Amino acid sequence: MDLSYSPRHEAFRAEVRDFLERHRAEALTALLGVDAGTARERALAWQRLLIEHGYAARTIPKEYGGHGAAPDLLERVILDEEFNRAGVSRGIGGQGPDMLVPTLLEHGNEEQKRSYIAPTIRGEIIWCQGYSEPGAGSDLAAVQTRAVEDGDDFVVNGQKIWTTTAHLAHMMFGLIRTEPEASKHAGLSYLLIPMQTPGIEVRPLGTMTGHSEFNEVFFTDVRVPKRNVVGRRGEGWKIANTTLKHERNLLASSALLEGSLLRLIDLLERTETESGRAIDRPGIRDRLLRLQARVLAMRCHSLRMLTCGIKGEWPGTAGLVTKLAGCEISHQIAGLAIDALAETGILYGEGAKAQAARTWQAHYMFSLGLIIGGGTAQIQKNIIAERGLGLPREPRA
Ligand SMILES: Cc1cc2nc3c(=O)[nH]c(=O)nc-3n(C[C@H](O)[C@H](O)[C@H](O)COP(=O)(O)OP(=O)(O)OC[C@H]3O[C@@H](n4cnc5c(N)ncnc54)[C@H](O)[C@@H]3O)c2cc1C
Repeated sequence: MDLSYSPRHEAFRAEVRDFLERHRAEALTALLGVDAGTARERALAWQRLLIEHGYAARTIPKEYGGHGAAPDLLERVILDEEFNRAGVSRGIGGQGPDMLVPTLLEHGNEEQKRSYIAPTIRGEIIWCQGYSEPGAGSDLAAVQTRAVEDGDDFVVNGQKIWTTTAHLAHMMFGLIRTEPEASKHAGLSYLLIPMQTPGIEVRPLGTMTGHSEFNEVFFTDVRVPKRNVVGRRGEGWKIANTTLKHERNLLASSALLEGSLLRLIDLLERTETESGRAIDRPGIRDRLLRLQARVLAMRCHSLRMLTCGIKGEWPGTAGLVTKLAGCEISHQIAGLAIDALAETGILYGEGAKAQAARTWQAHYMFSLGLIIGGGTAQIQKNIIAERGLGLPREPRA
């Protein structure tokens, strides 16, 4: 494995560092929320600057509002490394820019690409993902929300659940049953649904983070133009899986884990307990070393994936390992931080100590959600075992 970068890539790294230095004042530090008033204005301005310099939407063609650079995996790695090192936000991401946009580039028609890609990457259209239903989560192809043809429209009835950001979203990309007589996987279509359409009702669901990040969404005779089907009618399963592939890549990465591990080490060095610094306690040290080994293994895994990508090879189910292991390790990192903070770790409230603990509590609860969202850990293990390792299929009910 050759880990050195070419002079061209080293020059690119220097250019990125210089940009981050020059724009430190406008740079956003945290991951961007889509809802926060003035923070949103700042986020949109930061996003425009990133696109202009090619540090966001880098490979999206210019005609769709992107920077139009040729795909280069090493440039992407350098961007991740340098932004992570500087502790600076990579800009507006999430379900629209990271999941829907690549799906539209692969399967959308020209009108859909021209209408939606540019405002989505600029953060102006917020999207939500309407896949899960009360009876369809792991068994996603069981969705029952139905669309029936009526003139130039479909009329949609049914319910989605766990729909993140539906309360903020302008649009939903949803998996809807359009062919009830077809087999389970063949009867679905991938529909783009404006959230302001009459007949859509969004009801927030509270989570243990204390916030309402996701929702139930009810559809009663909702009219959606037929031209909003992505790909062909009845091909929704294939297209939904393209989106899921991008979702899994989004939920975990070795760069994110390395950043979290460094913050954990810093915390353990700074946290004093009755028996000295937290990092010097054998139990904590033992857990830290195990985590460090797993993060290192993830780095090797991501380099292996990168080599595959550069050679144009398909990584097979190795790609799923990133989501499975990455989300679990992230959760364990936050768990160790909370344990090391001892009683402070579970404090809620406004004091300085509680504030410090809250970041780790939020990380702990959020990463638990990521182990479930985008396909649960158990389902990832099934796929890796059956399709990757060739183990016998589990009995079907
Ligand atoms: C934070 C978060 C955000 C989410 N955001 C969205 C969103 O924006 N849009 C959206 O559509 N959905 C979203 N989801 C829903 C998510 O995709 C589903 O929760 C997930 O697919 C699991 O489905 P389920 O909750 O119905 O659980 P179920 O499928 O009912 O599973 C329950 C349990 O049984 C296990 N299980 C099920 N089948 C098997 C099997 N064959 N073998 C072994 N174990 C099995 C599962 O692993 C799980 O532990 C989100 C979920 C979370 C936690």
